[in-house]
Amino acid sequence: MSKTMMQQATCACGFSVTSENEDELVKIIQDHAHSKHDKEMTVADVKAMAKQV
Ligand SMILES: [Zn+2]
Repeated sequence: MSKTMMQQATCACGFSVTSENEDELVKIIQDHAHSKHDKEMTVADVKAMAKQV
């Protein structure tokens, strides 16, 4: 039996990303923060807002 660990991160604006690949999730949130909010987020920032779902 395999269990998939999904990570979810939700931006303050409501933009939400769910992925089983943490690196991908970090990249998507970083891209979103940069393009939509002109804000740089570190990997630690994204990991701090991510939760397991
Ligand atoms: Zn946002």
